[in-house]
Amino acid sequence: MAYKKVDKDDIAYLIGISAKNRVFFGQDIKEDYSHDEMPFYGKFIPEAVIEIADAKEAAAVMRYAYEHDIPVTPRGAGTGLCGGSVAVCGGIVMSMTGMNRILEIDENNLTVTVEPGVLLSDLKNTLAARGLMYPPDPGEKGASIGGNAMTNAGGMRALKYGVTRDYVRGMEIVLPDGNIVEAGGKTAKNSSGYSLKDIFVGSEGTLGIVTKLILKIIPAPDHFVSLLIPFGDTDSCISAVPDILKYKTVPTAVEFMQREVIEAAEKFLGRKFPHSASEAYLLLLYDGNSADELEKTYMDAAQICIDKGAEDALVADTPKKLEEIWGIRDVFLEAIKSSAAEMDECDVVVPVSGLAVFIKYINELRNIYQLRILCFGHAGDGNIHVYVCRDNLSDQSWKEKCGSVMNGLYGKSAELSGQVSGEHGIGHAKMQYLKGTSQESCIQLMRSIKAAFDPKNILNPGKIF
Ligand SMILES: Cc1cc2nc3c(=O)[nH]c(=O)nc-3n(C[C@H](O)[C@H](O)[C@H](O)COP(=O)(O)OP(=O)(O)OC[C@H]3O[C@@H](n4cnc5c(N)ncnc54)[C@H](O)[C@@H]3O)c2cc1C
Repeated sequence: MAYKKVDKDDIAYLIGISAKNRVFFGQDIKEDYSHDEMPFYGKFIPEAVIEIADAKEAAAVMRYAYEHDIPVTPRGAGTGLCGGSVAVCGGIVMSMTGMNRILEIDENNLTVTVEPGVLLSDLKNTLAARGLMYPPDPGEKGASIGGNAMTNAGGMRALKYGVTRDYVRGMEIVLPDGNIVEAGGKTAKNSSGYSLKDIFVGSEGTLGIVTKLILKIIPAPDHFVSLLIPFGDTDSCISAVPDILKYKTVPTAVEFMQREVIEAAEKFLGRKFPHSASEAYLLLLYDGNSADELEKTYMDAAQICIDKGAEDALVADTPKKLEEIWGIRDVFLEAIKSSAAEMDECDVVVPVSGLAVFIKYINELRNIYQLRILCFGHAGDGNIHVYVCRDNLSDQSWKEKCGSVMNGLYGKSAELSGQVSGEHGIGHAKMQYLKGTSQESCIQLMRSIKAAFDPKNILNPGKIF
């Protein structure tokens, strides 16, 4: 589709419906808006940026853009990892970070109503002060809740609590033609026709702009305990996971990590991890309201791991000890990024039973291509993050090797009945892999849904399929 270029009349309109200090064009557009956390996937400078103040403004922009065939790309905090918030077809970037109020904490219905630009860290801290918890826990706490909902972000606690989708009860949405709709609400159940809010969750800003969210919250558990479990080899480490999951109590998190990743994080932060001499590690988290019950659970889990060949089981049961471990776990991605000249990443998810085969395959790729390939991730739900590092390869060699490794990883995941993305989304960077591993009829259905919401294809074009 041929889109209209943004001109001075369009800028005048944007300023007219908002404010001069919230509309940017030409040299005034910050470089940050041209990429997300993976500039490796290309930089695309938008023609204009508007910082949105409320739903009415967002609707006015959409009505105008729809009428004039100007593409609009919604953007949260820009922490995405697949280029979802980048204006690949030009046009306007609509920044939602200024809409950052927590509107209501409803303790009777156990819901919180927020604007989309509220940061995950702010929501968590506000709720924690009242003994409440919003369970989804993606690694990047500087992400916005709107971005989390639009990517259906996962994170460490997905194993016990589920992902963002499970906590979105309702949304206010500005449609591509500027109409405002409400999908879902505060109710705990809803069997009233198609679940529109579930169509919007994970739609990566291609179907509508979320301007308000109603989220489910829970009373925060009182006790948290982690176990750091070193293994001499990756195989026995991964083979312990199904046994841990089959045991009576579902862990809050089961994370997998290799020594090389821990070493990169130690170097990045300039501090030591409590243990880093072993080849592979599981990091378990349990939470609950009874210290005694929790103790029995983690002692049993430790024994399961020892029976599977673990070298030790280190208990972290105080806030200080928990921070010593999780503070390092939280910077893995940044640490790997800073250790490599360039890197590509893959966020596939496979059935848990296929995890051992998948990780073995990563090691084979490492040997075949002689590349530094690091991985860590959410072993409890089969979602592994793989990072292919460039180091000192020539442009040509890097391009060829990285491409072959990525094809191999997505191919193996499909063979194991996995999915292209467990939590980061498709954006524009993973489109070829979604197409390559999906049924054509499913892609066609997605296209029909997109056309029903956005017949002119002006909202975040060039994404997903
Ligand atoms: C260090 C690090 C760790 C991470 N760990 C995790 C993790 O554990 N789990 C995980 O799932 N992700 C993780 N991520 C990825 C990222 O944080 C998530 O994808 C997050 O949900 C993006 O939120 P954002 O506000 O930055 O959105 P953006 O990157 O700005 O946008 C993401 C997508 O949402 C759309 N969008 C944003 N706001 C709106 C809105 N209001 N209305 C409509 N569409 C909108 C955009 O168009 C885009 O398609 C990590 C990223 C980093 C850098």
